[in-house]
Amino acid sequence: MAQVAFIGLGNMGGPMAINLVKAGHQVTAFDLSQAALAQVAAEGAKVADSAKAAVLGADFIISMLPAGKHVAGLYQDVADAIKADALVLDCSTIDAATARAVGASLAAKGIAFVDAPVSGGVGGAKAGTLTFIVGGSAEHFSKAQTVLTAMGKNLFHAGEVGAGQIAKICNNMLLSVLMVGTSEAIQLGVDNGLDPKVLSEIMLKSSGRNWTLELYNPCPDVLPNVPSSNDYQGGFMVDLMAKDLGLAAECAQQSQSATPMGALARNLYVAHQRQGFGKLDFSSIFRFFSKK
Ligand code: NAD
Repeated sequence: MAQVAFIGLGNMGGPMAINLVKAGHQVTAFDLSQAALAQVAAEGAKVADSAKAAVLGADFIISMLPAGKHVAGLYQDVADAIKADALVLDCSTIDAATARAVGASLAAKGIAFVDAPVSGGVGGAKAGTLTFIVGGSAEHFSKAQTVLTAMGKNLFHAGEVGAGQIAKICNNMLLSVLMVGTSEAIQLGVDNGLDPKVLSEIMLKSSGRNWTLELYNPCPDVLPNVPSSNDYQGGFMVDLMAKDLGLAAECAQQSQSATPMGALARNLYVAHQRQGFGKLDFSSIFRFFSKK
């Protein structure tokens, strides 16, 4: 079993660190929040009083932080304390350019790095069923599995450092476009007298079939146990979707890629966020179209 340092124990990082403890790894945790630390300490993780103290002697260093500036700041502070044969895994969703810059500055000190953003949300983090999308060398991807298998079910090697972040934002951009399209199609049917359940069944057997329609229907009471049938509570927040669409827009600008649907979805999500719906699940974009 490995010595693991875990930095950033929020909604995602907390349950991920607990799953590492349950799998028998020795986890040393650090977060700026004492409440977040107390939760993982109660499950058997050791608590450090600084990020530097947490990484000392660790074989694996895992970070799960809000944004690129936090990740860059963390590794600037702790790089000198990381042992030479350790593997650093940043699981945060950040811009690929920052992931590559952090990877390069650690590589200059002989420290291995992979970006390993996740899909699956808080539910997946708790259940240990996250999808990890890894950017890094084949050797480092293989080594990362020692810890990733305790937290996730699907592990993908997307390419070199930064590729994990790119694959993640491509997926989330497509997801947002599908969610917006599914919402407007269902509402068009409802406005013209159709039952949303019947319309969804028809489209599921037709060419409009997609993941949001089948498993995450945005119209209330079409499916049980999805956020739309629970006042859009839980799930993946509008704030996070807006963040990921901002990263996709930045990436598209850098590569001079045309992403008109992604840009439109971003504007819709940002407008929805500004109306005060940032903490609701992202399927609440349905409300943008419905009369309620
Ligand atoms: P969160 O805000 O709940 O947790 C972030 C944690 O990082 C907090 O506990 C905070 O105190 C801590 N932190 C911030 N700066 C720190 C520092 N310098 N040192 C130590 N700790 C620090 O966020 P989250 O929902 O857990 O998301 C974390 C990352 O995962 C984000 O990049 C997010 O985009 C991504 N993500 C989130 C979800 C989700 O559904 N919540 C899904 C996929 C990916």
